[in-house]
Amino acid sequence: MNLAPVIGGVTVLTGLFEFSRTYKNRDLIHDSYKLKITISEKYPKVVPVFEELEGKIPRNPDYHVNPDGTFCLGSELRLLKQLADTPDLSSFVDSSLIPYLYAQSHKRMFGSDFVFGELQHGELGIFEDCENLFRLNGKHAVVSALELLGKRRRVANKCICPCGCQRNLSQCCTHNRLNGFRLIMPRTRYKELALSLKYKLNI
Ligand SMILES: [Zn+2]
Repeated sequence: MNLAPVIGGVTVLTGLFEFSRTYKNRDLIHDSYKLKITISEKYPKVVPVFEELEGKIPRNPDYHVNPDGTFCLGSELRLLKQLADTPDLSSFVDSSLIPYLYAQSHKRMFGSDFVFGELQHGELGIFEDCENLFRLNGKHAVVSALELLGKRRRVANKCICPCGCQRNLSQCCTHNRLNGFRLIMPRTRYKELALSLKYKLNI
């Protein structure tokens, strides 16, 4: 792939991206896509953006493509967590981009549904991701956890834990799990997420 001039701190790579991959018992797929990859100067605090340049992938939510043509690789929170755990780009490509392209090729070649964890779109997808990432169950627990992440750590520690243990957050292991998310997004983003989920989930 080629490196375009770096403008405003954003690095853009374009070119043919080839992969050859199989997953468990699935078909071996060898395919290529002409891609544009935009990497923010704030990487890995900002998720890289991928788009396809030859119209091989329909710009349609059924294909997990956003209206602006960029790939929908999953919720921002999940992708940021992944980058926080393993920040190098090749790991990210390996764990997020290649499975996504594999699923696109599989759908095009075999007419199958999207082969990886058909994630819900929009708020429902974010909610499901939060349930898994925070290891909590239900709308109220997830919204409450997001609200706690929107508060200062000291304040949140004195609030009731969202897991249902009836203790303060500081006295439950949920505390450590949630704190792992504090460096990933700013408090204001968690507040916004809590508010939008509350509205969409009718809480
Ligand atoms: Zn708890």
